[in-house]
Amino acid sequence: TKDRLFNFAAGPATLPESVILKAQADLFNYQGCGMSVMEMSHRGKEFDFIIKKAESDLRSLLSISSDYAVIFLQGGATTQFAALPLNLCSPDDSADYVVTGSWSDKACKEAQKFCKAKTIWSGKPDKYTKIPSFDSLEQNSNAKYLHICSNETIHGVEFKDYPTPLNENSILVADMSSNFCSKPVDVSKFGMIYAGAQKNVGPSGVTIAIVRKDLMGSSQPITPVMLDFKTQADNASLYNTPPCFAIYICGLVFEDLLQQGGLVEVEKKNVKKASILYDAIDGSDGFYVCPVEKSVRSMMNVPFTLKKSELEKKFIEEAALEGMVQLKGHRSVGGVRASIYNAMPLAGVEKLVAFMKDFQARHP
Ligand code: PMP
Repeated sequence: TKDRLFNFAAGPATLPESVILKAQADLFNYQGCGMSVMEMSHRGKEFDFIIKKAESDLRSLLSISSDYAVIFLQGGATTQFAALPLNLCSPDDSADYVVTGSWSDKACKEAQKFCKAKTIWSGKPDKYTKIPSFDSLEQNSNAKYLHICSNETIHGVEFKDYPTPLNENSILVADMSSNFCSKPVDVSKFGMIYAGAQKNVGPSGVTIAIVRKDLMGSSQPITPVMLDFKTQADNASLYNTPPCFAIYICGLVFEDLLQQGGLVEVEKKNVKKASILYDAIDGSDGFYVCPVEKSVRSMMNVPFTLKKSELEKKFIEEAALEGMVQLKGHRSVGGVRASIYNAMPLAGVEKLVAFMKDFQARHP
């Protein structure tokens, strides 16, 4: 559709056009049932079908076994920063955090209110451009879990492999908000995965948690009922009114990802998009610079600066005039950031790369 922009926003982010159009077609009168998804009861048969299909399609995409509950929650990934220690720890239990950027830092600080959460490694001295080597991690032998942020949305660093918790009773937990469903993941390596939907899989308002069932049921007594994984799982995400419309859109996205051939195929497309963009940066003779260590560069969020930093504003403005918007880096780091989630078409990245070359040629 000709009047849509290439939206490089970090989230809420671009969604597949086919999904938006399908939602539009069904908006007024969902499948002939006489009302929209926004208006129907969350306990009616239409919505029951929608939420069950969303869950089962997500289970197929990530090959999630029946040992795990899949729950649709509210409050954003930020709420999970608190829910996690409340569900898995007593106040005296320790938990380890690998801090590779702003999001894992926030997760750790929030957890400190509810357990003995500790930063066991921080990338801050290197301005969050690295992922640590796993054997250098000084894990606490009694930590209840090891927390990572699999992809730091602001700094553009991504785990390409995952560390193993030190002891058998400990588990790995990941905030996958910004690379959820961008590639296959072996869920069985994790005790819990959580992700806000608004980057790769849907609109804001719903957060997805995948939790190993045996970890549920011993939350701290002060845990608000809405944050209790077991309550949410036992009630199939319908303890109270869930974010129905957001779940419906996620369902359409999951269906679309399956139609594309699943996450193996999706990953191939993402690798291609990211590589042409990083190649353009690295091949610019230093005109554009990406500070992130090459081996851990994010496939989803590509931050870069211009050597002549005074040109950054002009770069972002001119790109917007050509229909490529939301390229400004996060307010905490500045520069440029192109978020190229699943739904960003290759054509969008190609257009950006062509613009980058042209802009460079015009500013020798
Ligand atoms: N974790 C990561 C990696 C994120 O990118 C974000 C949002 N940008 C959050 C957590 C916070 O998510 P929410 O706004 O859904 O609370």
